[in-house]
Amino acid sequence: MNKKAIIKAGQIAIEAKKYARSFVKKGTPLLDIAEKIESKIIELGGKPAFPTNISINEVAAHYTPFYNDESLAHGLIKIDLGVSVEGWIADTAFSLDLENNEENKKLIEASKKALENAQKILKIGISTNEIGKIIEETIEAQGFLPIRNLSGHEMEKNELHAGLSIPNINEKKGMILKKGLYAIEPFATNGSGRVYDGKPSGIYILTDSKNIRSPIAREILNFILEEYYNLPFCSRWLVKKFGAKALFGLKQLEENGNLHHFPQLIEIGKGKVAQTENTILVEEEVKVTTKED
Ligand code: MN
Ligand code: MN
Repeated sequence: MNKKAIIKAGQIAIEAKKYARSFVKKGTPLLDIAEKIESKIIELGGKPAFPTNISINEVAAHYTPFYNDESLAHGLIKIDLGVSVEGWIADTAFSLDLENNEENKKLIEASKKALENAQKILKIGISTNEIGKIIEETIEAQGFLPIRNLSGHEMEKNELHAGLSIPNINEKKGMILKKGLYAIEPFATNGSGRVYDGKPSGIYILTDSKNIRSPIAREILNFILEEYYNLPFCSRWLVKKFGAKALFGLKQLEENGNLHHFPQLIEIGKGKVAQTENTILVEEEVKVTTKED
C-alpha cells in the first residue's frame, strides 16, 4: 500500500466535502454539484475515483446526474464522492437535510453515530460482524433501520470493491479484519431496510475488454481502458469527451457484454435514506483518512 497516496487522497476528499457543504443548497442543480466537486478534486491533484453520487430521499445510492440533467437538490441528499491518487482511493459520503425537517436530521444523526461507533471499535483482528452489529444497534437505538443489503468494503489500488465486505447488520458470521484500506458506510432509513434495483444510473464499470466492431464503441472502449480501467465512470463524462454519440457507443458496449451498468438503488418501503461514509486505513494504528474536523 502507498500510504502517502492514501493520505493525500483522503485530504483531497476532506477538502471536496468542505467545498460541497459551502455551496449545496435547496435548488442547486445536481449537475453543478457533481461538476464542481469533480473539478475541485482535479484542481487539488486527484482524480475522481468514481462519478459523484448525489442521491435524494428514497434513492439510497447510484444516482449521478446525466449530461443533460435538470434535477435540483432537495430533501435528504447524500453526496458520495471518491478521490484517486495514483490509484489509491478515498471513498466518503455525507448527508444534508435541505428541508429543515426533524426526521431527516435524525436519520442523518443515526448514520453518523453508527459510523462513529464503528470507527471506535475498529482494529486488526476484529470480526466484520462486530462492526455490522454495532452499526445495526446504533441505528435501531435511534428508531430506524440500517439498509441490510448495502455494505462497506475493502479497497485496493484501482479497485473500489475488493476483498472483504463490511456489513451494516449483525450477520452472525464475519471475516477477520486484516491490515488494509476499508470504507465503512452505514445507511439509516425510516423505510423497510432494503434497496431494490431501480432505473439505470448511467454509471458503468468495465467487465470485459473484448473487441467490438463499431468504431465509436471501440474508441470509447480504448478511452475507458486508458482513463478508468477498473474504476466506475459515467455517461456524463463520456458525453463531455465524445459528444452525444458516446451514448450510442455505450449502448453498443453494454450489448456486447463489455460493461456492467449499475442500477439506481431505491429503498423498498420508499423510506428516506441517510448515509455517512469514511475511508479508514487499518494498520497497528487506525487512521480515518477522510475525517472532517
Ligand atoms: Mn461511497
Ligand atoms: Mn463505498
